[in-house]
Amino acid sequence: MNSRSAASGRPGTATSAVHAGCPEPRPGGPVVQPIVRSSTFHWAGPGDGLDLRYSRYGNNPNQLSVAGKIAALEGTEAGLALASGMAAISMTILSSAGPGDHVVASRHLYGATHALLSGELPKRGITTTFVEPSDPAAWEAALTPRTRVVLIELPTNPTLRVFAIGPARRAARSAGAILAADMTFATPVNIRAAEHGVDAVIHSATKYLGGHSDLIAGVVAGSPELIAAVTKMMKLYGGSIDPGAAWLLERGMRTLPARMDRHNRTAHALAHWFTRVGGVRSVIYPGLADHPDHEIATRMLSGYGGMVSIVLDGGGEAADRFCADLRLAAPAPSLGGVETLVSQPRHTSHVDLGREEREALGIPDGFVRISVGLEDLEDLKADFRRAAEAVFAHG
Ligand SMILES: *Cc1c(COP(=O)(O)O)cnc(C)c1O
Repeated sequence: MNSRSAASGRPGTATSAVHAGCPEPRPGGPVVQPIVRSSTFHWAGPGDGLDLRYSRYGNNPNQLSVAGKIAALEGTEAGLALASGMAAISMTILSSAGPGDHVVASRHLYGATHALLSGELPKRGITTTFVEPSDPAAWEAALTPRTRVVLIELPTNPTLRVFAIGPARRAARSAGAILAADMTFATPVNIRAAEHGVDAVIHSATKYLGGHSDLIAGVVAGSPELIAAVTKMMKLYGGSIDPGAAWLLERGMRTLPARMDRHNRTAHALAHWFTRVGGVRSVIYPGLADHPDHEIATRMLSGYGGMVSIVLDGGGEAADRFCADLRLAAPAPSLGGVETLVSQPRHTSHVDLGREEREALGIPDGFVRISVGLEDLEDLKADFRRAAEAVFAHG
């Protein structure tokens, strides 16, 4: 990964991250495209060959830069930037499914995606069957004649499960449905999902693509036909991205490969280190040999990602004290930024579930999710070591 594809002559990931989607250089022109605040654009009249330009349509120059960059990074023909990750997910589903139609989705999904599919879309006549994605037969078994979308997410939050894409892809193909994948935790640096047959590659760009915890955005990458259909939904439901956010996102994406390289390495080292820290009962990271999906992650991903989860002895009370004692890592929801953040699913994504339900999902109380940032490894270790000693040194 991160290398030129010699056969295709296509630029590598790092080169695409810097240059793709940017306007052609011209003498005297700015090296960095300015933020184009204009909501509308001069129209030369019938026959000028240009579509109408209007920023809700997603064809503002800053929006187009992000679209071009995500397409290059994912290796697809087209891309689209939207107002949020949820706009990307909901517009993608609505572009393919209408009343009476059906979705087959992994049961391991981001909370809001699950709520959209289980609580909201049924009101619009779109139903979903949730399947266990580690069971290859489950996808095919859940299909109906009206299945239009098959949806998978990986690695999952917060147990970092990595599932094979093949069974979901075969089910989607046999149903004539699109295969959509939320690849937020992986990023195109760690896997290019379109190469695995995913039709709609979706990211919450709020996370790693933006990378600095300073914007809300989403992206979709896929074929020109798919992106046109999603764009149509975006125009009608009004989910386009503000040009200022698009500019910030495009800037963040330029350093995505460099950041991911370091997120991958620091998280891997930290995960190994945590296995030897007193009071840490278990460490969950796809790069560790005891992770249930270690082999498949090793085969599919070119990096194990920047997220590490740990389970502390002493349950929720110990985890509360541990998080409160951190000085460098900060308790906050969200992930994928330059700064290290910690959160407990029992207070955030899984707050509505009971303790037993969470435990059945592999999220016992004492579970702490860590979004490993770009700080020095030694400083992070020192912070986590001190907090662990404060909680566990006195038994
Ligand atoms: C954050 C997140 C989303 C939602 O993205 P927003 O940008 O907050 O709308 C969707 N999927 C995953 C995996 C996420 O982490």
